[in-house]
Amino acid sequence: MATTYHTKVLIIGSGPAGYTAAIYAARANLQPIMTTGFEPGGQLMLTTDVENYPGFRQVIQGPWLMEEMKAQAEHVGTKLVYDAIKKVDFHQQPFICEGENGDTYVAKTVIISTGAQARWLGLTSEDQFRGFGVSGCATCDGFFFRNKEVAVIGGGNSAVEEALYLTHHASKVTLIHRRDHLRAQSVLQDRLFKHPKIQVLWNQTVDKIVGEENPRKVTALHLKNTINNEITTLKVDGVFIAIGHIPKTEIFKEQINMDTEGYIITTPGTTITNIPGVFAAGDVQDKVYRQAVTAAGQGCMAALDAEKFISEASDI
Ligand code: NAP
Repeated sequence: MATTYHTKVLIIGSGPAGYTAAIYAARANLQPIMTTGFEPGGQLMLTTDVENYPGFRQVIQGPWLMEEMKAQAEHVGTKLVYDAIKKVDFHQQPFICEGENGDTYVAKTVIISTGAQARWLGLTSEDQFRGFGVSGCATCDGFFFRNKEVAVIGGGNSAVEEALYLTHHASKVTLIHRRDHLRAQSVLQDRLFKHPKIQVLWNQTVDKIVGEENPRKVTALHLKNTINNEITTLKVDGVFIAIGHIPKTEIFKEQINMDTEGYIITTPGTTITNIPGVFAAGDVQDKVYRQAVTAAGQGCMAALDAEKFISEASDI
């Protein structure tokens, strides 16, 4: 039977931003409800080793970290509901959100922490080696390619920044782009072209990621020339896909202000959106930093912003 939940704080999405918001909101006695989505945990569920989340001297695993955040959020009093919101109505207070399960959530405030997903190439071999040499985040995984040869796919700011970042670890970085010029800012391009460790391959797409099992690892890329369709092999130990991210904001269209790429717009230095009582935290509103720790920080900010909103709004 369908349930109607009433809450002071509804948190939509269960990545680091959502769980941190939940921990702070629960500890502020706001009895938050979190809808986890049907793939709880967000992008960290797709990573393996995590070495840059503070507090852990040893390498930890992304899924383990999310399990701990979930347990902590529940321990301090968050109600988790395994449901995905399919529709929101922010035109009136309290806000009404409908879940895929048929349940309704009536909320005084909403924290949107639905995150973003890396855009992937869509190759079967990419799925096979994701987390085993295929990565969507150089800052997260670059360290594991010390003195190894890696490739970066893409021609935007992210791809160029990732290539430059990877030069701190890898012995050689090959940037592979499907056209013959980059869309990245020229200042970044200058740094890229001048870097002795970086080569650029133009007019190439990845046809297949080649690797081995036991242990599972990437060994090479089959590249297809977009002009003459010629296939060549590039030996690499890892490949970073940097062809853009997609914020998960489909259900908020027409409800809240977003930029042209679909990221929710917040007042700088806060998580406040254009709808009073609706806050956004993490990758759903941040296309620059995109780190678990920055998302967690923004989740904390969202809970504090929601708490302040509730305490100041006497009529909700
Ligand atoms: P982006 O600007 O959308 O660039 C994506 C790149 O991937 C493009 O070069 C595109 O090629 C390529 N691409 C897309 N689909 C592909 C496919 N299926 N196969 C091969 N290549 C593919 O994405 P982004 O670099 O992640 O940047 C996203 C936004 O964040 C941008 O607004 C960017 O300016 C911003 N950003 C800013 C900074 C900064 O200011 N420091 C840093 C990072 C990101 P084409 O060029 O041929 O379309």
